[in-house]
Amino acid sequence: MNNFDLHNHSIASDGLLTSSALIALAVNNGCDALALTDHDTTAGLVEAQKAADALNLRFIPGVEISVSWTPNADAKSTTLHIVGLGFDAENPVLAAGLNGIREGRTARARLMGDDFARIGMHGMFEAAYEFAENKSMIGRTHFARALVARGEVNGVGKAFNRYLTPGRPGFVTHRWASLGDALAWIMAAGGVAVMAHPGRYKLQKTEMTQLLGEFKDLGGRSIEVMTGSHSPPQFREYALRAKEFGFLASRGADYHGPGESHYEPGQVPLLPDDLTPVWSVL
Ligand code: AMP
Ligand code: MN
Ligand code: MN
Ligand code: MN
Repeated sequence: MNNFDLHNHSIASDGLLTSSALIALAVNNGCDALALTDHDTTAGLVEAQKAADALNLRFIPGVEISVSWTPNADAKSTTLHIVGLGFDAENPVLAAGLNGIREGRTARARLMGDDFARIGMHGMFEAAYEFAENKSMIGRTHFARALVARGEVNGVGKAFNRYLTPGRPGFVTHRWASLGDALAWIMAAGGVAVMAHPGRYKLQKTEMTQLLGEFKDLGGRSIEVMTGSHSPPQFREYALRAKEFGFLASRGADYHGPGESHYEPGQVPLLPDDLTPVWSVL
């Protein structure tokens, strides 16, 4: 019983599957437990829990919170993702916090559309909006899919190489939650805070050490080690970091949908034996 997959998306944020279809896929792939961790929303959790109950799969409520973090006052802000697991989704502190972050997304998406128009690509906001099932959760992935549909690029990964990232067309700086707020909301709701895919952040080694220290001081308990967003060298690097800081280790595909993710639910390599899994406290 160790095939836990604790990072996945549905159409409630930027995934392609309904939460029921995601649960069915997890069962098919032999998962022992699954967490749904949509960006900044818990809207998919009720349907997912029902689907999991019907198929006898253990389900863990989750969320992936967008955070802006700076190592010091002079540095540029980095966007981080903090996963919350095993919380009470009805908790008003968490719900209000998530509601606040979602509110900025539509305005941001309009500015992204303006930035595309600046280089002669018109109607991108409207095109991306069509791809967002949950309109309040419009994000960069929906723009990436719109770029693929228009034939500008031949895959969402390529869309993020040419557009949508700092310095490229379609990128708009945005202020998300603070690290302290995101952790406070998760803990207020009785959940465990996990640093999502630390290897993805463009930070110097010393900045990563600072970030992991701050995260721990603020109540963070776990980091993702085996994630679809890490390369094999990063699996090893963050296994060492988990030990260095005494973090519980998490594992998850970061699955978004067919053709868009390296791994399906349950298919990322298992956690190394010498780490303590985060599910030991869930
Ligand atoms: P947003 O929260 O709107 O900034 O969108 C962030 C999402 O964009 C991430 O959760 C990923 O799903 C997606 N994303 C970011 N960078 C990439 C990339 N290089 N390739 C594929 N998807 C990406
Ligand atoms: Mn995503
Ligand atoms: Mn993420
Ligand atoms: Mn994710």
